[in-house]
Amino acid sequence: MFEVTIDKDKCTGCEECVDVCPSDVLEIVDGKSEVVEPEECLGCESCLEVCEAEAITVEEV
Ligand code: SF4
Ligand code: SF4
Repeated sequence: MFEVTIDKDKCTGCEECVDVCPSDVLEIVDGKSEVVEPEECLGCESCLEVCEAEAITVEEV
């Protein structure tokens, strides 16, 4: 299982991570990325790669 964390202070709300995630784990809520389906994460790290703000961490738990 994977734990996705968004640093909201760093997130610019660009939506890149939402678009790239194959599992709809992320959504923009109030202008920031939010983890809405945590148990769906595949650990693919695509969101990490597209986030220029380096606001996302994905950890295997
Ligand atoms: S890619 Fe990064 S900066 Fe853009 S919405 Fe996602 S977490 Fe925020
Ligand atoms: S690691 Fe992959 S499945 Fe998990 S939130 Fe990021 S893009 Fe989505």
